[in-house]
Amino acid sequence: EKPTIGFIGLGKMGRPMSSNLVESGYTVTGYDVVPAAIQALVDAGGRGAGSIAEAAQASDVILTSLPSPVEVEAVYLGEGGVLAHARPGTLAVDFSTVSPKVYHRVAEALRERGIDFLGAPVSGGVERAVDRSLTIMVGGPKAAFERGKPIFEALGQNIFHIGEDVGLGAVVKLTNNYFIGYYTLAVAEALTLAGEVGMDLDQLFEIMKVSYGQSRIYERNYGLFIAKNRYEPGFTTKLLVKDLKLAKAMAEEAGLKLPMTDVLIAQYERAIEAGYGDLDMAAMYRYIQDITKG
Ligand code: NAD
Repeated sequence: EKPTIGFIGLGKMGRPMSSNLVESGYTVTGYDVVPAAIQALVDAGGRGAGSIAEAAQASDVILTSLPSPVEVEAVYLGEGGVLAHARPGTLAVDFSTVSPKVYHRVAEALRERGIDFLGAPVSGGVERAVDRSLTIMVGGPKAAFERGKPIFEALGQNIFHIGEDVGLGAVVKLTNNYFIGYYTLAVAEALTLAGEVGMDLDQLFEIMKVSYGQSRIYERNYGLFIAKNRYEPGFTTKLLVKDLKLAKAMAEEAGLKLPMTDVLIAQYERAIEAGYGDLDMAAMYRYIQDITKG
């Protein structure tokens, strides 16, 4: 008998994830502040809820995919949230990208009510959410992880239980996105330079495939976006800068001041001011062209 699932946050990631679970035979009750997002789940064969409380009360397992720490804390700990309405014995799993600190706070509050919590950020973007090949990085109690595992396997391909500390998934995810923040700007600048001095970018791409300049981000940003000159997200620049700021906060809590963090954040923020915030992060290539070529 499959557990019943409540899915809160049916956005770019939550939408394909929740409908994949429906397709796998789970009963999924979804809630989002945007009614059209709930309707999309209903159209995919799920059930709609009018509130977090309604989704929580109907479910053995609660899954969340929300924009940032503010929404995660509100959905779990706020009035009318999961803490107030989930049944004791519920398993709750968050797939958002937030800080380890948020996960510690949420897990502690839920534990007092007998609710298990896992912090389980994902990597792979909308493409891999759709085709069930996400990487899922899970922190939290092993027993809770085992309970969630069949669900994770319906959503992703590479599932890691990193350790008992509920914040470890967020540590890995923020590290991953720190790399992404660097590489995306590196691709944008290097391709602007190579193109400007006369190099054919498709040919460069082929040569880099067998050279050290290659990266998954170069492959993604160039192959899926820059080469096609299309920048529909994907993963927006706004979300990336959010994650870089979370990484900066994590560094500060550890007493570290990394020399490049503020440089990266400043460039992305200027791009957002210039109107690039809701485009895929690969559009940093266009932004760098704009500011360097005038
Ligand atoms: P999104 O903004 O498309 O989706 C978030 C959804 O949460 C929206 O539909 C929004 O209406 C809903 N929401 C906000 N507040 C709510 C509330 N109080 N109650 C119920 N619903 C609420 O964002 P996304 O791209 O799906 O990303 C979700 C999370 O996953 C983010 O933390 C992001 O950093 C992370 N992530 C995204 C990607 C990606 O490629 N998009 C990849 C990996 C991780």
